[in-house]
Amino acid sequence: MAAQSFDVVVIGAGPGGYVAAIRAAQLGLSVAVVEREHLGGICLNWGCIPTKALLRSAEVFHLMHRAKDFGLKAEGIGYDLDAVVKRSRGVAKQLTSGVGHLLKKNKVTVVMGTATIPAKGKVSVKTDKGTEDLTAKHIILATGARARELPGLEADGDLVWTYKHALQPGRMPKKLLVIGSGAIGIEFASFFNTLGADTTVVEVMDRILPVEDAEISAFAKKQFEKQGLKIREKAMVKQLDRAKGKVTAHIEQDGKIEKVEFDTVISAVGIVGNVEGLGLEELGVKVDRTHVVTDAYCRTGVDGLYAIGDIAGAPWLAHKASHEGVMVAEMIAGQDVHPVKPESIAGCTYCHPQVASVGLTEAKAKEAGYDIKVGRFPFIGNGKAIALGEPEGMVKTVFDAKTGELLGAHMVGAEVTELIQGYVVGRQLETTEEDLMHTVFPHPTLSEMMHESVLDAWGRAIHF
Ligand SMILES: Cc1cc2nc3c(=O)[nH]c(=O)nc-3n(C[C@H](O)[C@H](O)[C@H](O)COP(=O)(O)OP(=O)(O)OC[C@H]3O[C@@H](n4cnc5c(N)ncnc54)[C@H](O)[C@@H]3O)c2cc1C
Repeated sequence: MAAQSFDVVVIGAGPGGYVAAIRAAQLGLSVAVVEREHLGGICLNWGCIPTKALLRSAEVFHLMHRAKDFGLKAEGIGYDLDAVVKRSRGVAKQLTSGVGHLLKKNKVTVVMGTATIPAKGKVSVKTDKGTEDLTAKHIILATGARARELPGLEADGDLVWTYKHALQPGRMPKKLLVIGSGAIGIEFASFFNTLGADTTVVEVMDRILPVEDAEISAFAKKQFEKQGLKIREKAMVKQLDRAKGKVTAHIEQDGKIEKVEFDTVISAVGIVGNVEGLGLEELGVKVDRTHVVTDAYCRTGVDGLYAIGDIAGAPWLAHKASHEGVMVAEMIAGQDVHPVKPESIAGCTYCHPQVASVGLTEAKAKEAGYDIKVGRFPFIGNGKAIALGEPEGMVKTVFDAKTGELLGAHMVGAEVTELIQGYVVGRQLETTEEDLMHTVFPHPTLSEMMHESVLDAWGRAIHF
């Protein structure tokens, strides 16, 4: 059979790939997307969406326990883990079938199978029915990433889990060890701890959520500990001894090794890019530590071959993948595009309390040589936070003292993952403290704290 020809073939239908495919099709290009497992990628099937569905169940459960605080009665509070997981899988399914409809509506050809690139401009797909050959003027690599496995700490699906196992647990852990306190580790720790698992988080760095501002990490840690989460920083899991129904973890801290027993371990020690088996080496594509090396426009250096999303490196976030997908599609269609700026991409962690940030931390701003002004505002000074029964949290802003440029914003507390976008827009519009001070924030909202934090940087906060 003659090879089918397209302007663009996208490999991988995650939030990078499917968005690139839709945008390219909108711009009049003929597009195919190849997917080996399921439309929507990790994000919709095993990442962003199903975790948020689980965390929502945990949040409601937590609030039910607090019913009395709100003058309500709730008796016999409990949960059915299978039903919680079923809801999460249902939400994921609803969204992935939505992606199928969107691709169809935009006339994108979907080829289910595993793609390789035998030569420039050619994609070979192993499908259930045999091999399908495609030719493409442009190929976009969007094959994503998978969980990193450390030697000796590998997941087995029974005692030691990756995020995939943790998203569909066959049982509720009683004594849980989470290795790694990045967003994924902390979200699972928060979920299982809220449902009653005796949970310990081990982090090799000197603080949890190590990419966040140090003050935010410390604030979050205090809140987590109040909820009973055990946190061990500057600690390393060196070994896991697996026996029937239990794992003994060898945890190194302060030069000593302690052996602690758990019934479940979640390994959340980062991700590695899906770079294997694609033929990248033969094409001369540069790969550095499992990620394809690209320029600011996602070009790989091989004519007509681009890499976007997780396979192209940090930050490993769905919105970064999608934005790169749009940029590349528009560039291929001949439009003027702007590179995605990593420092303007917000990171959100949907634990309880939530954490969200964009731009430089206070330490990084100082390291970069800025003379800075820092503003802070606590949730306890905000009417809406108190009315919601969520008085624990803070908003922190970092400005360039000379120009007033908003360098970074950092938040911990209720709904901050929704609030952060206000600062992201501000940074995109190159806002200064003056613009933000002159902006009128609706009352009563949590967003008023974003205003107050800016005012505080100049010693003008009203409510604290
Ligand atoms: C537990 C968890 C929670 C997360 N939560 C968030 C969050 O809240 N917010 C956020 O922004 N990010 C979150 N992420 C990260 C987010 O999921 C990723 O950044 C995002 O999915 C990356 O998109 P992508 O398109 O680059 O790759 P992916 O989503 O990984 O998609 C890649 C696709 O390519 C396919 N593929 C791979 N190789 C081939 C091949 N050879 N042929 C055909 N198809 C192939 C794969 O099957 C996959 O479907 C989370 C991740 C995890 C694991």
